[in-house]
Amino acid sequence: MSAALHLYRLQQIDTRLDQINARLTSIQNALENDSDLKAARQKQEEIAATLKECERALQEAERESTTQRIKLEQAEASLYSGKIHNPKELTDLQNDVASLKRRLSALEDRQLECMLALEEARAALEQAQKAYLSTQGQVISKNASLKTEQESLEKERETLLAQRQAVLPAVQANWLAQYDTLRQQKRGLAVTALHDDACDACGAAITRAHAQTARHAQQLVTCPSCGRILFAG
Ligand SMILES: [Zn+2]
Repeated sequence: MSAALHLYRLQQIDTRLDQINARLTSIQNALENDSDLKAARQKQEEIAATLKECERALQEAERESTTQRIKLEQAEASLYSGKIHNPKELTDLQNDVASLKRRLSALEDRQLECMLALEEARAALEQAQKAYLSTQGQVISKNASLKTEQESLEKERETLLAQRQAVLPAVQANWLAQYDTLRQQKRGLAVTALHDDACDACGAAITRAHAQTARHAQQLVTCPSCGRILFAG
């Protein structure tokens, strides 16, 4: 029996635990921070701000129209009152009326534009609200499946941790220390299988003699190339 048997088993457990932990972290992040929902909410807020701006512009155009209309009425009243006889004064007044009419017409155009923009913004906001609700629904069902996955991974982790506890007593303390160091140095993979006289992790060829030693129970043998512990099954 290869000396690395229990370490190899430990490696299998730890590799799966590493995968589970990475997946659990990403599930946790997805549950806490859903970018789709954030984007939908942001769009809704942007359109609501546009809508507010349209309402404000419309009110301002309406206020200004009213003011100009009053001025026009007053100017026209003076013009047709028959009280003004001075031709220069009359011409000035006629010019005022014409200019007020132009101004009023421009303001009415602006009012119309504002109303159209407001209608568009209302329709867009309605769309955005629907999109938000639909995204919210999707997120809820996606989160439900993420939560199911999370629970199942947590259960698997419990089982693996129990298995780990069962394997540990079979491993010599100094071998375990070597294993832990290698795990840190070799991106989590400290023990690798020996297949067809080659290291499974790095592919380096292993001499027959070296492979024979790896099959012995008494000592750990490492890959001469990558330094990982070799397990000969
Ligand atoms: Zn190797």
